[in-house]
Amino acid sequence: MDAKVEMVTDEGPMSLKIGIENMLWKQKAAYLSDMNPAIEVRRDRLDRLDRMIVAWQDRFAEAISDDFGNRSPIVTTLTEIVPTRAAIRHTKKHLAEWMRPRKPSVAWTSQPAGALIIRQPLGVIGIIAPWNYPLNLMLSPLVGALAAGNRAMLKPSELTPAFSEALRQAVAEHFKEEEVTVLTGGADVAAAFSAAPFDHLIFTGSTQVGRRVAAAAAMNLTPVTLELGGKSPAIIDSSADLARAVPRLVWGKLLNSGQTCVAPDYALVPRDRLASFIEAVKAEAKKQYPKLEGNTDYTTIISDRHFGRLAGLIDEARAKGAEIIELVPGTDAARRILAPVLITKVDPAMAVMQEEIFGPILPVIPYDTLEEALAFINDRDRPLALYWFGKDKAAEKKVLNGTIAGGVTINDTILHLAQDNLPFGGVGASGYGHYHGEAGFVAMTKEKPVLRQAARTGVAMLYPPYGRIARTM
Ligand code: NAD
Repeated sequence: MDAKVEMVTDEGPMSLKIGIENMLWKQKAAYLSDMNPAIEVRRDRLDRLDRMIVAWQDRFAEAISDDFGNRSPIVTTLTEIVPTRAAIRHTKKHLAEWMRPRKPSVAWTSQPAGALIIRQPLGVIGIIAPWNYPLNLMLSPLVGALAAGNRAMLKPSELTPAFSEALRQAVAEHFKEEEVTVLTGGADVAAAFSAAPFDHLIFTGSTQVGRRVAAAAAMNLTPVTLELGGKSPAIIDSSADLARAVPRLVWGKLLNSGQTCVAPDYALVPRDRLASFIEAVKAEAKKQYPKLEGNTDYTTIISDRHFGRLAGLIDEARAKGAEIIELVPGTDAARRILAPVLITKVDPAMAVMQEEIFGPILPVIPYDTLEEALAFINDRDRPLALYWFGKDKAAEKKVLNGTIAGGVTINDTILHLAQDNLPFGGVGASGYGHYHGEAGFVAMTKEKPVLRQAARTGVAMLYPPYGRIARTM
């Protein structure tokens, strides 16, 4: 990167690379001055994070709504504030246990030596978050980073400028910059950020940008947790009770207007239940969203570009012979309100089945046998989430054993993500590594193995000359 002025910092204007690295070295120096923060220090940082969320929650919700155009503060509370605060509580409750050194047994040939695994902070963690749940996807990785005793630098999305600025101010109010700091800016800042020599990077975003982040981090051998996207299937089994399954599926699909990484992307439905499934979805969508105009529960699409992409997916499918069923009317391009649609007669070659949808569009694919449905899933990239609805335990086992996905919810959608005792992460094209709860703590920890030799007995047979041993082997 050239040395032209691209960033204004407290020390004056400087190039992006130098500005980011200066901050990183400041945090690394602070880390070296207290490499193993005591539990009280970590609890205090988590408490300050919690106080920050409480003090700023209204301003955060308002900023997020401004960034989207409309997003209900209740959606922000349910999907961002509540789970992040729950993660803080869970972490504080288990912190002492997570920090404790592990004491594995020692090989009999080394006894009476002792073995330890010390859980040590890695140093400075870089966190890059997307726009769709900008608070939770930034602060819940931060909970793990702080619990593990690290410092952190945060890069929020340029598509949520109001929230990013509020977060920058809130963090500066509650943390010293060598503890936690926020760097705002566009893709150029994000690219320079991912090229900085962090001790660990957590990136949440698209598979496409994830590849670039992994490549940039590889130059520093910085380990990366990649939380990416993909097409998460929902399978309706022939044993499913539609009256229970459909409300849960519609909720997960239309929450945040489908702009959710673990939203069910498409539904696989038994061919002989297709008509009743479609009727049930139509009725349920109207029940959850009786109208779109003036309905603050229905989130708007984040940008004109994203709106255009989604409208394009629908147009292309229609032009190629698919049937578009509008679930609740009310598309308004000027306000970026996109009416939810169900798409039938879908060809897998259509763009809507080739890329992650990330909007209120549900393609429905009929299947005749469960094997056929599983083959459809396994022919594609490994998804971030998989949903199965049914009562037949043998079919459930077949689905769990016969597919690989980042995570699974049975008989509901989204909710595996909200469990602090379950690791969260993708597989294959949906990412690698895990966080949430202890998994996040461990991801940002060096588990350092230590062998302490006994004071008196070494392993004398290791020392040459070996001729005597060779004769006995
Ligand atoms: P995105 O990949 O476009 O952007 C994510 C972040 O990357 C932003 O902060 C952006 O500034 C930054 N970025 C842009 N260019 C970069 C570069 N060259 N190097 C480094 N960083 C760069 O994703 P998005 O549109 O913000 O979010 C939507 C995607 O995120 C979807 O694919 C969705 O499935 C995925 N997602 C995944 C999860 C998960 O937990 N796995 C959660 C939410 C969203």
